[in-house]
Amino acid sequence: MRWKRGHRSRNVEDRRHQSAGGGAGAASLIQLLFLVGRSRYGLVAIVVFFLFMWFTGVDPLSLLGGGGMSSPGNTAARDASEEELVEFVNWLIDDVQDTWREVLAGTDTPYRDATLVLFRDSVRSACGFAQAASGPFYCPGDHKTYIDLGFYDELRRGFGAPGDFAQAYVIAHEIGHHVQTILGIEPQVRRLQSERPADANALSVLMELQADCFAGVWGHYANARGVLEAGDLEEGLTAAAAIGDDRIQRNAGRTVNPEAFTHGSSAQRVEWLRRGFDAGSPAVCDTFSAAR
Ligand SMILES: [Zn+2]
Repeated sequence: MRWKRGHRSRNVEDRRHQSAGGGAGAASLIQLLFLVGRSRYGLVAIVVFFLFMWFTGVDPLSLLGGGGMSSPGNTAARDASEEELVEFVNWLIDDVQDTWREVLAGTDTPYRDATLVLFRDSVRSACGFAQAASGPFYCPGDHKTYIDLGFYDELRRGFGAPGDFAQAYVIAHEIGHHVQTILGIEPQVRRLQSERPADANALSVLMELQADCFAGVWGHYANARGVLEAGDLEEGLTAAAAIGDDRIQRNAGRTVNPEAFTHGSSAQRVEWLRRGFDAGSPAVCDTFSAAR
């Protein structure tokens, strides 16, 4: 891809150096407060503790190492190795969102920006506490999409899907979920899922394939602007195939079970990404009608 280095987006929130706390950190903090609370001057100590936190702005969980075991040296090395990726996603998020602003301009659902949150290891969102291992995600509750850039190593090595367009596809897919939220598709699907639990997985697949198609719509415009280079689209299609449910189940040594699909098969993901890319219009992304 031909992208511009050094760009900073105002829609990127860098939380890589913030502790998400949660899990172990929160549990040990509660235990500690419980023990202190039972002692003689316990309550006074707790009040002093919180006042101290309040005035200094220190996250109490960070004192307990809730953010994991990372030494300053490791952090600096990881920062350096991620710098180019950070610049890339800063450029990308604006390119993707500027595209959607144009695509939805003049409709009765104009585009509103989402925020891209960079985190490390674990993060807290309006959708709850999340670990990097569960991959990038979009939270409709706060209109933010979350990624630990370490996922790109996983994509390259674990899934065999290298390349900047593969990386772009991942974020464009998450912004696809944001577009679904703006268009009111996401809340409708959530409602249907709670009404018809037996169809929840099938509905999830249709949502995910539509997000793939929306990623393709962005790709179409990026290509029209001359951003894509030879081989880029193939990188995206390789990534879409690599994270298909059937491929993932097979690689995990399980038998392929379409009932358990939540994102769609490799072939479906490739097909919908391609459809959006070829047409450059969200109108072709109605996976729900296509399924009927
Ligand atoms: Zn998704």
